Amino acid sequence: MHELSIAMSIVELAEEYAHREGANHVREMELEVGELSGVVVEALDFAMEEAVTGTLCEGARWTIQIVPGEVQCRACGHRFHSRDLFAPCPQCGKAGVEVADGEQMRLRSIVVE
Ligand SMILES: [Zn+2]
Repeated sequence: MHELSIAMSIVELAEEYAHREGANHVREMELEVGELSGVVVEALDFAMEEAVTGTLCEGARWTIQIVPGEVQCRACGHRFHSRDLFAPCPQCGKAGVEVADGEQMRLRSIVVE
């Protein structure tokens, strides 16, 4: 499962950070998932439950922020919100876009104690 390996690398990052800070527990994590990242938020949330077990993140609370997908039309340069890379441009009707935002999947902030 794709989301489980993502969740495990987030937990790994959080643990590294906790070690660096000399903390023994991760209290809060804020994750950021772009609409165009291909990550299914519900699946990630579920995978996190499993990934934190037996780690410094066990018992931590986390929130998942959704970053809207933003694309730019290659033909006319129009920027618009989209969750689909194959959707045609609402301005000129052509297909073919570049991703401007919403491809990220990252650990945005973390609170340790
Ligand atoms: Zn266009």
